[in-house]
Amino acid sequence: MSNAIFIPALQLSAVDRTYGQGEQQLNVLGQLDFSLYAGQAVALIAPSGAGKSTLLHIAGLLEQPSAGEVYLNGKPTSHMDDAGRTSLRRADIGFVYQFHHLLPEFSALENVMMPQLIRGLSRGVAQTRAQELLSYLGLEARLKHRPGELSGGEQQRVAIARAVANGPRVLLADEPTGNLDPKTADHVFETLSALVKASGLAALVATHNMELASRMDRRVTLRDGKIVELS
Ligand code: ADP
Repeated sequence: MSNAIFIPALQLSAVDRTYGQGEQQLNVLGQLDFSLYAGQAVALIAPSGAGKSTLLHIAGLLEQPSAGEVYLNGKPTSHMDDAGRTSLRRADIGFVYQFHHLLPEFSALENVMMPQLIRGLSRGVAQTRAQELLSYLGLEARLKHRPGELSGGEQQRVAIARAVANGPRVLLADEPTGNLDPKTADHVFETLSALVKASGLAALVATHNMELASRMDRRVTLRDGKIVELS
């Protein structure tokens, strides 16, 4: 029997992140510990300036911590060079932002194929996977549409499909529904939640939406540079 579910998909251990030097030094994260497990969606709720973006960048291997270790599927990452971190990020981590950042001149289908092609998959495989994902997310009638021809909620669902196109273990989202009206936000959130459950993704979602946060598996905040669990 595999014990993989007992190993966090993502683990941050004694992570420090300081900006600046000497008297100007700012300790944004200090001795931060955090574990995120497969199939779990965790809401990160903290005021502006608390360090959410810094945490998401470090968790996503976009930024190195000043000290501490980031483990992906139990494997340390701090010793890896940039190329190694980039290929690990492409394979194992998906990102969703407040604004969709889809490529405007490409269709929904092509946008979801793109990360797979960059990773070296064939067009046929990438297209089949993109079609399946977009259909799962309720967009089977929108495959050929460009982002400008889609509603805000549809654009964000395409962005979610693109984020998980390479079958990552970890999904990091920064205010994914922050730009949407409440009803659309609810729909996009339900889509995201269903995907997390169906795929066994581990998701960390920064949000100011307390109602959506209350429907996630866990809620955490950042206090004095550390993760604190909320009830
Ligand atoms: P949040 O996403 O919660 O708003 P951030 O992680 O963006 O917070 O920023 C946390 C703190 O770190 C802020 O005080 C910010 O000004 C500071 N900060 C972020 N990035 C840098 C940087 N590159 N250089 C200096 N200070 C930074």
